[in-house]
Amino acid sequence: MRMSKLLMPTLREVPAEAEIVSHQLMLRAGMIRRLAAGIYSYLPLGLRTLKKVEQIVREEMDKAGALELLMPALLPAESYQASGRWEVFGDNMFKLRDRNGRDFCLGPTHEELFTETVLNEVHSYKEYPLTLYQIQTKYRDEGRPRFGLMRGREFVMKDAYSFDLTKEGLDKSYKAMYDAYCRIFTRLGLDYTIVDADSGAMGGSGSQEFMVKSPVGEDGIAYCDACGYAANYEKAECVVSEKEFPEGDFQLEKIYTPNVHTIEELTEFLGTEPHVFAKTIIYKADDKYVAVMVRGDREINEVKLKNLLGCTEDPELAPPAAVREITNAEVGFAGPIGIGIPVYADKEVTFMKNFAVGANETDYHFKNVNIGRDFEPDVVADLRVIETGDACPHCGKPIKTAQGIEVGHIFKLGTKYSDALGLKSLDENGNTVSVIMGCYGIGVTRCISAAIEQNHDENGIIWPYSIAPYHVCVVPVNHKDEQQVSEAERIYDELLLNGVEVLIDDRPERAGVKFKDCDLIGIPVRIVVGKKIGEGIVEFKERTKSEPELMSVEEAVEKVISMGK
Ligand code: ATP
Ligand code: MG
Repeated sequence: MRMSKLLMPTLREVPAEAEIVSHQLMLRAGMIRRLAAGIYSYLPLGLRTLKKVEQIVREEMDKAGALELLMPALLPAESYQASGRWEVFGDNMFKLRDRNGRDFCLGPTHEELFTETVLNEVHSYKEYPLTLYQIQTKYRDEGRPRFGLMRGREFVMKDAYSFDLTKEGLDKSYKAMYDAYCRIFTRLGLDYTIVDADSGAMGGSGSQEFMVKSPVGEDGIAYCDACGYAANYEKAECVVSEKEFPEGDFQLEKIYTPNVHTIEELTEFLGTEPHVFAKTIIYKADDKYVAVMVRGDREINEVKLKNLLGCTEDPELAPPAAVREITNAEVGFAGPIGIGIPVYADKEVTFMKNFAVGANETDYHFKNVNIGRDFEPDVVADLRVIETGDACPHCGKPIKTAQGIEVGHIFKLGTKYSDALGLKSLDENGNTVSVIMGCYGIGVTRCISAAIEQNHDENGIIWPYSIAPYHVCVVPVNHKDEQQVSEAERIYDELLLNGVEVLIDDRPERAGVKFKDCDLIGIPVRIVVGKKIGEGIVEFKERTKSEPELMSVEEAVEKVISMGK
């Protein structure tokens, strides 16, 4: 491709709309342009990389025995109503109505449709097991679309669904996808971690996420280098860490704590440490209110809470008016004693002694509180966020934590959708069984963001070879020097003839501009045709290396051709 003809609108300045490096670089490299929040056009370079990611995913899915098909994105409401997800998705689903008043949505994920396809098209147990997939545009009206392709409202996903008649069959289908995912993310050049994930909300028996560690990741992951344990925060099991508490048989005491609202203010006021206080937070879960307690130095994990409560909506902090009504006090003084709504305590709270809580009275707290004597939680469970240094639930060594970008998710669904939509089959013994499903997603467009987050420097993107939009850029240093230009053209032609994905920077620009662009768009190899071309010598510069190598034209051509093999 001639760069003089390529639509590659690179930007020198960092666009104000982009907070994270991958988003900035995709805009600066002229790969994508924003149309609306979370909605992007792919310009030629962006589209080439997208197609490459898709192709790697496709090849590995095919190799794993999955069959590709393609479903519409515009979907009638009925299937989602039958599964209950028309409501569950709520505002996250783009809903629309046709001219006849019939409800439709833009597909956020396709469990229902694949289940129905199998229901309609598969009639014999001999056709199982079966894994189907598609690479398709998905729509989710995300509350916080951001970070470019990382969290879009329109994005490309590979979604696969497996159908088995036995649990062992599901385990096998799942393992095949697990292995395919490992190959895919390796080929994409991603350094990834596989974590145990929560399967509560969707109802299933196992789930793992493929995470790319990155400070801009939106998921917390806990891992242990000693034993290899890794889980996301929702799933990570918290081990109780016992702390020192005031020892003795103290009386419950109500204390006047004017203008003390936060833990910091309270610990300062009482001259204690945060762990000697228990936070009591009131949540609205569907239509009821619950009080949730964690130690003062801990945070509540709302997904664990949601799973424990089994509510459909995400639990939300109760509005101030409700807090006032429940506690008879201003916000900030809630406590478990006499609160009148169910108290859910994190298990660590039950190891606390002589601690402080809000008194359900404005400007008052209780101190020297003891469970059993002063109140009894209704439910005790693991409700907190795991933290760096906590004991690993498997081996007890200190846990490490990191932020991760979820690039893939594999999930043993069980019979949730097959039961909801009536997908059954006779098994080989003639018994009717519910078909057992798994679902497997990859954020195809998100993978591009993740790859850039992991592979860049101050000059731009450093594409892994496998997903670079082009592999080589031939740059004549002086566009007015006939020999340089004609030799560059000759090298370009030869590489084209050999099937290399090559660019030639034939723009009438200064060499500095060309080098800058080449670095910004992340082309793995640059062949610079300059003054030494009289001796048949060019500069061979790899994007991952800081210094170029001098070599003969033939060597450079050979080297590039062999890189593609
Ligand atoms: P998240 O927790 O990040 O919202 P999810 O768990 O809702 O994602 P899944 O339903 O598991 O997502 O979708 C499969 C994959 O699709 C995810 O692993 C992720 O890589 C990708 N994905 C999900 N939502 C988005 C989005 N809004 N933009 C880009 N990719 C997405
Ligand atoms: Mg997920």
